[in-house]
Amino acid sequence: MPKVTIDYDKCTFCQTCVSTCPMGVYEVEGDKVVPVQEDQCIVCRACEASCPVEAITIEE
Ligand code: SF4
Ligand code: SF4
Repeated sequence: MPKVTIDYDKCTFCQTCVSTCPMGVYEVEGDKVVPVQEDQCIVCRACEASCPVEAITIEE
């Protein structure tokens, strides 16, 4: 299963990853985005590329 990591020290809560991910991996929980459906990740890396502060790391 892919591992989706968000560096919350960098994350600005812009929610771009939530709208970018084609698989609905991310959800907003309170004031954080959380990769709740990591098992659905297809490793397209769209979120990694679109995060403006490079807070996301995808590992296969
Ligand atoms: S790599 Fe693709 S499928 Fe996986 S969380 Fe990022 S946008 Fe979603
Ligand atoms: S795109 Fe990056 S900065 Fe924006 S909410 Fe997602 S992880 Fe945080």
